[in-house]
Amino acid sequence: MKKSEKEKAIFLDRDGVVNKEVGYLSSPKNFEFIEGSIEALKILKRKGFLLIVITNQAGIARGYFPEKTLERIHDKMIKRLKQNGVELDDIYYCPHHPDFSGPCDCRKPNPRMILKAVLKHNIDLTSSYMVGDTLNDVQTGKNAKCKKVLVLTGYGKEEQNEIGQIIPDMIFKNLKEFAINI
Ligand SMILES: [Mg+2]
Ligand SMILES: [Zn+2]
Repeated sequence: MKKSEKEKAIFLDRDGVVNKEVGYLSSPKNFEFIEGSIEALKILKRKGFLLIVITNQAGIARGYFPEKTLERIHDKMIKRLKQNGVELDDIYYCPHHPDFSGPCDCRKPNPRMILKAVLKHNIDLTSSYMVGDTLNDVQTGKNAKCKKVLVLTGYGKEEQNEIGQIIPDMIFKNLKEFAINI
């Protein structure tokens, strides 16, 4: 059987999807996985997807925490996942905010972070998904031309009520429900 050369990927918003949304997570101590999200990542990996985090971290531009702290948060996330037998394939973050650091071309809903990952990992966008808890994430997926999924963890429930112009292809209760059903 001929195997497709390109990879398929899940582009994951971080806060409110993988870990609990606490509003500008600024310490590894406050990093907590959403129930079932580790299991979800395992399932997605088993189903052949690359796992790539795509996150806006404007707390850096706002001066809430330094980039070093973000690295420590990610180290903790990576370590905990490894202990559970699952590895992320990449993490992209935008540290900017237009009001504090001027305009940038990476902040979601700009698809730039996704498109960078696509080039680096040879990803087929049509078989890939952007999963987020906000309509901004859905818009990012739309801009990148991949499938777009809203999960109802984090800000998801509030965001679901705002669905108008920007429509997700699928809505799931959480990352695990998505992982099981896709
Ligand atoms: Mg989020
Ligand atoms: Zn940026």
